[in-house]
Amino acid sequence: MRAFEPFRFKAVDPIRMTTAEERAAALERAGCNVFQLAARDVIIDLLTDSGTGAMSSAQWSAMMRGDESYAGSESFYRFERVVRDLTGYRHVLPTHQGRAAERILFQALLQPGDVTLSNTHFDTTRANVEFAGAEARDLVIDAARTPSLPHPFKGNMDLDALEDVLATEGDRVRLVMVTITNNSGGGQPVSMENVSAIRDVCRRHGRLFLLDACRFAENAWLVKQREPGFRGRSPKSIAQQMFSLADGCIVSAKKDGLANIGGFLALNDDALAERCRNLLILTEGFPTYGGLAGYDLEAIATGLEEVVDEAYLSHRIASVESFASRLIDAGVPIVRPAGGHGVFVDARALLPHIAPLEYPGIAFVNELYVEHGVRACEIGSVMFGRTPAAGERPAPLELVRLAIPRRLYSDAQLRYAAEAVIEVAARAETLSGLRMTWQPQYLRHFTARFEPLRAMSVR
Ligand SMILES: *Cc1c(COP(=O)(O)O)cnc(C)c1O
Repeated sequence: MRAFEPFRFKAVDPIRMTTAEERAAALERAGCNVFQLAARDVIIDLLTDSGTGAMSSAQWSAMMRGDESYAGSESFYRFERVVRDLTGYRHVLPTHQGRAAERILFQALLQPGDVTLSNTHFDTTRANVEFAGAEARDLVIDAARTPSLPHPFKGNMDLDALEDVLATEGDRVRLVMVTITNNSGGGQPVSMENVSAIRDVCRRHGRLFLLDACRFAENAWLVKQREPGFRGRSPKSIAQQMFSLADGCIVSAKKDGLANIGGFLALNDDALAERCRNLLILTEGFPTYGGLAGYDLEAIATGLEEVVDEAYLSHRIASVESFASRLIDAGVPIVRPAGGHGVFVDARALLPHIAPLEYPGIAFVNELYVEHGVRACEIGSVMFGRTPAAGERPAPLELVRLAIPRRLYSDAQLRYAAEAVIEVAARAETLSGLRMTWQPQYLRHFTARFEPLRAMSVR
């Protein structure tokens, strides 16, 4: 039987249609950077799955009972109960989104010269580590570096590399962190076995071990599907087991929290939690709201309960897989297997004639937008091609992420987006690269400006 959406629509948002000419003009005004477009100029928006999902009627009604008390809000206690039940961590600090949890944690934990290790640091995570003067190193397994190579747990960390760094530079390593699923590496899951082994190594070396757990439910579902011994388990119990292996987590609730805003930091260590709480008060707010409204805490608490539902997860992952199969059948090179939250096109394989520092990912993203109104996101040398340590150099991969927002688009709309990708990929050799004409100091992909090396033609 074909999986279909396990929900009905209650409210609808019209989509504004535009022509290729209008979109070409909009992109030019945006400095050839789709992050600078107005959303009304986009037809299908696959820029990110962060905060862009549709909330349920249960979430909207929970928001009505939001308690907006400054201190000790009932909504906070409910949020805290749900997070504790899921993660088991003692201290729960709400933040306005994931990067606030990162900034607070790293400010409390890191000194200049420290090193953090991860399978792959996400862009804001890396930027916040570097902002604290520390060095972020990615230790993902080799299989992750070859997009076409199928592997069930391509988000896994290379355990030998981890042991190596801890043996030679152990004193500098303040934190080991595993991103589940590995967003920048194609939304690939991490196995329970790998997380257990990392926990053992960290224990042996006395290092703090945290999860960047934005997509804990998608990771749990993929463990259930792919790792021996988990078939009969509920996604929630798998997630609980994974959380129990670490000392805490940072989470953006805009992903598997099924909320439009929010995040949290959860920790077992009393002293570290105390330092973080002090910083939380300084910029986010009192510890029982942390930069969120009481109604946001209600939406997240309900979302965290809904996201582990099997019918939801089964449809979610099936719809991403069906998007990926369409591209594979048409011969478009993508990261294999499909990730949990999106499909990642291998722009380096698709556009070998465009040099990494002429940004093949941006070339593809821009053509896809102008011709079809579909907005995607480069995860390549613009996002990761500059570090304080190494300066400007090509990123390990040139990917284009088509992130699928949760519960937002129908199968027909996603089919349109897949066909758009296939159409542009079929004439990849006609695309040309770009030159960066301006960039800011941090997270340059959001605001950098570009110029095409060859004039774009509207066909
Ligand atoms: C989204 C994300 C973050 C940052 O969260 P924001 O809510 O966007 O600030 C951190 N890590 C990962 C893996 C993410 O996907």
